[in-house]
Amino acid sequence: MRDILPPESARWRRFAEVFADVVERAGYGQLIPPLLEDLGVFTRIGDATEIVTKEMYDFVDKGDRHVALRPEVTASVCRSFAQHRPTVPWKIFYSGPNFRYEKPQRGRYRQFDQVGIEVLGVDDPYLDVEVIALAWEFYQRLGLQQLRLIVNSLGEPDDRAHYVDALRTHFEAAGDQLTEQSRATLERNPLRVLDSKREPDQAHIASAPQIGEFLSDDAAAHFADVCAGLDALAIPYAIEPKLVRGLDYYRRTIFEIQGGTLDSAQNALGGGGRYDGLVEALGGPATPGVGFALGVDRTLLACDDEGVFAPEPVELDAFVVDVTGGLQAVEITAALRAAGLAADRGYDNRSMKAQMKLANRSGARTAVIVGDDELAAGTVVVKPMQSGADQVTIPRDELVAHLSTHSDLSDTVTGTDTP
Ligand code: AMP
Repeated sequence: MRDILPPESARWRRFAEVFADVVERAGYGQLIPPLLEDLGVFTRIGDATEIVTKEMYDFVDKGDRHVALRPEVTASVCRSFAQHRPTVPWKIFYSGPNFRYEKPQRGRYRQFDQVGIEVLGVDDPYLDVEVIALAWEFYQRLGLQQLRLIVNSLGEPDDRAHYVDALRTHFEAAGDQLTEQSRATLERNPLRVLDSKREPDQAHIASAPQIGEFLSDDAAAHFADVCAGLDALAIPYAIEPKLVRGLDYYRRTIFEIQGGTLDSAQNALGGGGRYDGLVEALGGPATPGVGFALGVDRTLLACDDEGVFAPEPVELDAFVVDVTGGLQAVEITAALRAAGLAADRGYDNRSMKAQMKLANRSGARTAVIVGDDELAAGTVVVKPMQSGADQVTIPRDELVAHLSTHSDLSDTVTGTDTP
């Protein structure tokens, strides 16, 4: 688990803001569920899911309740839906941390953030298209170029069950030629063997049956509509028959967006798909659902690698240098901030030289300087730090107007611009 320090932390906030902007314009409202839920909320995701069986931070609280820090948010959204019974379609977005006891490495952490959306109550394949298109649009807003969108259909639960049987038969026939890890995976969840990146498994994965052969007419038609919708929006994608994704609750459409710069084990920036049964399992009515979660940590690594969506420190309009004791700086910074300008100051009544050094380091557009002469005369010196213009002495009560009107001094860039 890591600390996110400034200015990186401001980038994280901006990331969530850009995401909110994209999805709020599409009719999604934010759900803020608790980080801690009853353990049962997550065990219902599926007992063949390692996220649940091996990686959960669960414990018994002081009231003897078995609880868990959330490993993902979809289950919480479905629990919330079952509890509050909102009208459908329920279009929800979220952002925040999740916890999984995984082996930490670049792009894989025990506490990591996700942003995501879920829509409950609609079966329309064109909703799947909307959901995928919003993930795509968001990545475009970040400026990422090296992306690969892959889609697949896992069919209806029956199709999927037949496919799993066929996979089991296929992989069992491979016997000892499969790696030991994949043989163990086969016991629990034959679909996940397709995820293996281990060399000895590859030939058997390549020759495995494909889900497309098992899709019912309904599921095939749904998937064809999804692909037609993506074509209509000119979103580039590839159908990847081996895509299964980690969670057991998916059916029909699933998709993943991969980055071009990360190791293959960590290259999934985000993904999602359709699911059913979750709301029902959590005590609500049978309700279709579709959504995605995008990893913040990993997407920002991809941004670093591609040199886009860089951290932008807040630009200060003024750094107040008061060498008369400090009380003038108290008043001036307060007045500037009240007027909506960004202002910082030096402390501890340090020397002019020391405070000017701080002003320089702060990156502020101007230093506003008060010495004994200025204090006596009711003036301040405004020294442009970036533009190279000459310093001026102005009446103190004109400072706010001066900084607000001289664009070379106070462009009031606050770092909230988005690409
Ligand atoms: P999932 O919920 O497993 O479908 O993951 C969705 C996205 O969350 C992934 O594509 C990653 O970007 C991110 N993610 C999942 N697990 C981790 C982790 N342990 N550390 C960092 N990011 C993660």
